Amino acid sequence: MDGTIAVLQKARGPWAFQRYPLPDPEPGAILVKISYANVCGSDLHVWRGETALPPQGRAMGHEMSGRVLALGTGVKTDSTGQPLHEGDRIIYNYFFPCGRCISCLRDQPECCPNKARPGNGIPGNPPYFNGGFSEYYYLLPGHVCVKIPDEISDSVAAPINCALAQVIQGLDSGGFRQGDSLVVQGAGGLGLNMIAAARDMGAGLIIAVDGIPGRLKLAKEFGADHTIDIRDCPTPADRIAAVKELTNGQGVTHAADVAGVKGVVPEGLEMLVHGGTYLEIGSIVAGFAFPFDPDQACRRSLRLIGFFQYDPRILPRAMDFVRRSRGHVPWDQVISHTFPLEGIQDAFERAEWVGRDPTQAVITRAAVTP
Ligand SMILES: [Zn+2]
Ligand SMILES: [Zn+2]
Repeated sequence: MDGTIAVLQKARGPWAFQRYPLPDPEPGAILVKISYANVCGSDLHVWRGETALPPQGRAMGHEMSGRVLALGTGVKTDSTGQPLHEGDRIIYNYFFPCGRCISCLRDQPECCPNKARPGNGIPGNPPYFNGGFSEYYYLLPGHVCVKIPDEISDSVAAPINCALAQVIQGLDSGGFRQGDSLVVQGAGGLGLNMIAAARDMGAGLIIAVDGIPGRLKLAKEFGADHTIDIRDCPTPADRIAAVKELTNGQGVTHAADVAGVKGVVPEGLEMLVHGGTYLEIGSIVAGFAFPFDPDQACRRSLRLIGFFQYDPRILPRAMDFVRRSRGHVPWDQVISHTFPLEGIQDAFERAEWVGRDPTQAVITRAAVTP
């Protein structure tokens, strides 16, 4: 049997739809039939051509949910010990820390520089199914996978393995504690997930900054106490002043770049209290350099921590959070548009927000349902 995988051939398309034979999972592996694969902000950066494409093109897509098609020898349960069978719905990590580098040995698998991807992430390399924009995905041995509870839909589960796990990693590593305060710079998929997670971790104050009306509304529904509309506060100085006003002139304990837009980092650093922590999650392409005087870090005792991926052990906790919060967090609002795999170009064009009337962009996520 064959399956189709979409490969981005050049910036902004077109895509090739390549067919490959379905591999038999090796011991410890799982072959997944993908249910939902979302267009994450990092996928948009690649699609726009902000990072170079290899000559073979790129298999993309990493935020997803799926169903077990075939289990490799030895896989009998999910990572929480629940029996696992063909047809079960699961989420899983899309990268595989090596387990033997200095970062892994220091218990920081999220920082592993040698993370494996199926077929090294190159289209046409066995086991072929190495991107989310595909009918299938090959989970290498050493994955974490968690069954999706009956009460959670595939679409609600799909953002857990990128957006939600990523922001939980950020809050954990940033030492976010009960009563702390947070500015979320950008209320898209990452930002909304971060608001909900920080609220659940006992945040004292959450402020969301965005310029898209639908996102500002959702930010409140996900748990933000205040929103700052960029259209009302058009300059960094306006927004820094607004944050100071909401915090008795002190600033917040944590601020997060979950936008990946030039200029947000220096602005966020100014919003911090002395001893505050800046979480860099959104800027994954080069070119956002800014002048920074280290005396600011010294005198104000600031910390800046960056994250590219997360510790896969977060996934069971993230799934449990979604399950127990589903009554008061509108998780079903994260995906606003779905497209078939053949419509992947339409999904990206709809998700693109740079240079558009903000009311016309996808609010948070467009998804492909192969
Ligand atoms: Zn992502
Ligand atoms: Zn490693």
